[in-house]
Amino acid sequence: MSTYKSLLPVDEEGYYGRFGGAYVPEILHSNVENLRKAFYRYVDDDDFKQEFDTLMRDYVGRPSPLYRAGRLSEHYGTNIYLKREDLNHTGAHKINNAIGSALLARRMGKHRIIAETGAGQHGVATATVCALMGLECVVYMGATDVARQQPNVERMKMLGAKVVPVMSGNRTLKDATNEAIRDWCCNPDSFYIIGSTVGPHPYPEMVAHFQSVISSEIRSQLKSQAGCETPDYVVACVGGGSNAAGAFYHFINEPSVRLIAAEAAGLGVDSGQTAATIQAGSEGIIHGARTLVMQTPDGQIEEPYSISAGLDYPGIGPLHAFLARSGRADVLAVTDREALDAAMTLTRLEGIIPALESAHALAVLDRLKFGHDEIVVINVSGRGDKDMNTYMRELKIED
Ligand SMILES: *Cc1c(COP(=O)(O)O)cnc(C)c1O
Repeated sequence: MSTYKSLLPVDEEGYYGRFGGAYVPEILHSNVENLRKAFYRYVDDDDFKQEFDTLMRDYVGRPSPLYRAGRLSEHYGTNIYLKREDLNHTGAHKINNAIGSALLARRMGKHRIIAETGAGQHGVATATVCALMGLECVVYMGATDVARQQPNVERMKMLGAKVVPVMSGNRTLKDATNEAIRDWCCNPDSFYIIGSTVGPHPYPEMVAHFQSVISSEIRSQLKSQAGCETPDYVVACVGGGSNAAGAFYHFINEPSVRLIAAEAAGLGVDSGQTAATIQAGSEGIIHGARTLVMQTPDGQIEEPYSISAGLDYPGIGPLHAFLARSGRADVLAVTDREALDAAMTLTRLEGIIPALESAHALAVLDRLKFGHDEIVVINVSGRGDKDMNTYMRELKIED
């Protein structure tokens, strides 16, 4: 008998309030159903859990530190703790899900992995895990992204993945996802690893589960470092929502913990150049789930924009649509400029160069006033190496 019970506000059909579900074409029904069964079968299996935990520790390098940022805390007059997902192998949180999903693929007897990627971060994490486990790896990537994310394309190729440039639509993440789904339709023997808490049920629940290691560690680390398991605030950026889901997971049912999601405003929520899906989007269906979507009044998906490639998605995971609409989470839309400034502040005060995505979460410090005695945990989802070109172009650094 399984003792697994999700701590998420999700029902058996994968609905978070009115969001979620599994809106897939007939041809995908059995793929999704087999995945759902396998996930519930192995999620609580002792061997599975042990293999996952061992790889998290010895391969990814977990637990990632929870670091009390002294100079940053002094600067903002509060207590700031940084959850250092940037120190994971491959430099971000995405490896947590890639490992959990690939272990599940192996249990299901699948040897070919499909993935989509935008900036290339999920593609690199997936290609890494496929090399580790000896699995074939095919990564769909919009041709526009292939051209602008060369270092990650090269990493994937060196790791042995086949990178397929997608020529349809705007040739970015949405188009790559469509192509990955199409591949899965034709190749039901393959396993599709989605890079965020998006897609049809059980993906959002499954990805959040694999990422929940983040908040599980935060609780025990806070207990030993600050004497209490729950902070006053947990802050994370949201693209599709997986690092935020992981950071929020073990606090969702603790009403004293305020959850703050930072979405990418781009040039401004009303500028037409934005990825602030929660504020600028409306209800619709994208990639198999009912959620908030950036769309025209007649339902055409609108191309999102953010300086940060990892936040540049026209949808949002159904969990976050629900947390936002129900008032459980507060959502702030952070502009490119605010994120760049926050990245500079962290770099100069703490010697940590964050990913541009994570910089959106850090920018919340300039928008909200936190009390002297309050504890604020910020999830640093990734490191900034991949963003150095953008930082050099956008920041006026004097020598
Ligand atoms: C991909 C990515 C994100 C956005 O994805 P989520 O699923 O919303 O977490 C955020 N930060 C980094 C470093 C990423 O690579």
